[in-house]
Amino acid sequence: MKAFLRSGTLWTQIEYVIETPMFVDSQLTSMVQMADLCAYALRRYLENNETELFDLIFQKADRMGDATVGVRQFTSPGCSCKICVSHTAAS
Ligand SMILES: [Zn+2]
Repeated sequence: MKAFLRSGTLWTQIEYVIETPMFVDSQLTSMVQMADLCAYALRRYLENNETELFDLIFQKADRMGDATVGVRQFTSPGCSCKICVSHTAAS
């Protein structure tokens, strides 16, 4: 985490993460609840093709040009989901 805070990631600097990663009950921190909500929306989209929550979350994902880099799905090439299509948009 120190390396990410010092040098950022391949796509962006990390300016707002100040905690050391740790396991915590999501009822105790609002940011963990936000992460849980994002994970829930992504899972519901990928497993059930439900887009209502996903579209709200996905539009906030980090982008580099036209490519979405803040959300990735590691699956077989040629996947036509919104995540994969958007990630390869600028390739
Ligand atoms: Zn995909």
